[in-house]
Amino acid sequence: MKTNVLVIGGGASGLMAAGWAANSGAYVTLLEKMRKPGLKLAITGKGRCNLTNIAPIHEFIEHFGSNGKFLYQAFSRFFSKELINFFQNLGIETEIERGGRVFPISNRAPDIVDALIRWNKKNGVQIKTNHPVKRLLIHEQKIYGVETPAQNKAFHADAVILASGGASYPETGSTGDGYELAKSAGHTIIPIQPALIPLETAENTALQLQGLSLRNINVSVLFKGKKQTEAFGEMLFTHFGVSGPAILKLSHRIVQALNAGLPVEISIDLKPALDMHKLDARLLRDLNANGKQHIQNLLKGMMPRALIPVCLETVKIQYDKPAHQINAAERRRLGVWLKDFRLQITAHRPISEAIVTGGGVCLKDVDPKTLQSRIIHGLYFCGELLNIHADTGGYNLQAAFSTGWLAGSSVVQKNGYIH
Ligand SMILES: Cc1cc2nc3c(=O)[nH]c(=O)nc-3n(C[C@H](O)[C@H](O)[C@H](O)COP(=O)(O)OP(=O)(O)OC[C@H]3O[C@@H](n4cnc5c(N)ncnc54)[C@H](O)[C@@H]3O)c2cc1C
Repeated sequence: MKTNVLVIGGGASGLMAAGWAANSGAYVTLLEKMRKPGLKLAITGKGRCNLTNIAPIHEFIEHFGSNGKFLYQAFSRFFSKELINFFQNLGIETEIERGGRVFPISNRAPDIVDALIRWNKKNGVQIKTNHPVKRLLIHEQKIYGVETPAQNKAFHADAVILASGGASYPETGSTGDGYELAKSAGHTIIPIQPALIPLETAENTALQLQGLSLRNINVSVLFKGKKQTEAFGEMLFTHFGVSGPAILKLSHRIVQALNAGLPVEISIDLKPALDMHKLDARLLRDLNANGKQHIQNLLKGMMPRALIPVCLETVKIQYDKPAHQINAAERRRLGVWLKDFRLQITAHRPISEAIVTGGGVCLKDVDPKTLQSRIIHGLYFCGELLNIHADTGGYNLQAAFSTGWLAGSSVVQKNGYIH
């Protein structure tokens, strides 16, 4: 007799898990609470879906911090190469961009969703939309089904894969239901927090600079004035503060500090390739060579136009001061500002705006070889619901696909029995 498997959630991990479980010979029903599966997947990568990264496995795992090693089993069996081949077999060609990031050539995230849905249907997966799961049915430490009260219905199964995602972008269906479901099964939930999240800044500097994107800058994080960590790359000013890859990368650490009540600042180095000495020499050379120019015009060669008023106000130099009148102390202040443009971080944006949710199902109670619960027989976990999260760059989706693959392939052994 075929094994009955239920998959809760039709996101990146759930679609992968359901398809592989069916491929391994199970009878699979996927219960998705929204009108369509893959709503979050369809908006990933600004609608282009950065589905993975070609970084080697050890480097890839480092992007997940200390919990990354949990993923080693899943990655060593289904990694970026396998994922790229998998999508190629579904008719999706991919290309590699800056930083090893992989996108579909079509640049359309919905193509990935549609391909996964087609593949699931081809494998015989029954996809039931508008089916929110509200309760796990457990008896004597073994799962035997789930309830979806909207349809006033219970679904019975030999195994259940919980793939309900994190708690951000609730309009895509990821409202954190899985944390409650896992908790009801006796699992510990590491408190959830926004992991990749834009930050709010004091005063109105960010508002003034709204829309400005800075590239090749270095951002340092300071708690109580002491440098903690840094990130190189790109950042963006928004109406409330700062965002962009470098900021998102640093955001989890900052969220923890803010929650602990620490004062947090960021320091932006606009000229990371020049040390203070070289920068001062460059400023001196430019000032001498363009003595008659107003400082505000001369600075156009050193920074984006929008930054000039912010800079000159901070260093207290008049906009129309001729370059030859800038004295050594003013030049020094300019150099310091270019290397250390400070902004005070006042808050993080709400978790609903996070790219990824930090925290989740505690990894200690999940077997990394199969992703089966160590507490409830027949219950499996995959995707963002687990206490794993990484930087931007395609790492999070690869984790969702790899853990989905592992849960889906472990749920049924070749002879049809559950592990
Ligand atoms: C704007 C944005 C852009 C992103 N871009 C990228 C990117 O380019 N690259 C990258 O690597 N990562 C990206 N991410 C992160 C990535 O999308 C997630 O890590 C990934 O989707 C997690 O997959 P998942 O299957 O665990 O969860 P999800 O994709 O969130 O899927 C969970 C599914 O479960 C369903 N569900 C929830 N509760 C229930 C319930 N009770 N009953 C039934 N169904 C339920 C939801 O409706 C949803 O369909 C992005 C995230 C966001 C928000």
